[in-house]
Amino acid sequence: MEPLVVRLRNRGWRLTAQRRVIVETMTGDHVHLAADEVFERARAVLPEVSLATVYNTLNELVDMGELLEITHVDGRRRFDPNTAHRHQHLVCVDCGRMLDVVGDEPGLPDEQRHGFELLDVEVTFRARCPDCIGAVRA
Ligand SMILES: [Zn+2]
Ligand SMILES: [Zn+2]
Repeated sequence: MEPLVVRLRNRGWRLTAQRRVIVETMTGDHVHLAADEVFERARAVLPEVSLATVYNTLNELVDMGELLEITHVDGRRRFDPNTAHRHQHLVCVDCGRMLDVVGDEPGLPDEQRHGFELLDVEVTFRARCPDCIGAVRA
């Protein structure tokens, strides 16, 4: 998958200096950042970045389908640039580390839908990462 900044450039999305540093925090594998984390990282590169611009940019990218908005096990919203493939999340309940994984899609048989029209499904595997397993056993 092409990096978000490249996808946006190809779409002709106007990349101001602030938007660019915000988008660049959303680069790499297994990126799942909360808005305040994006703000901290962007501000370290470009001190004039405002929190309002961070929120506006993230929400606009979600509306454009270029970022996924997900809920972490801690209940906070995270933003995820991996929109190319449907994926699920493997999350450590101790340290919060969150990885993209691709497992079987859960299905819901017709008789269990109660007439509802399914829109989306979000799967999170709650787990403990190797580092935290080590800490428990130490
Ligand atoms: Zn952990
Ligand atoms: Zn993800």
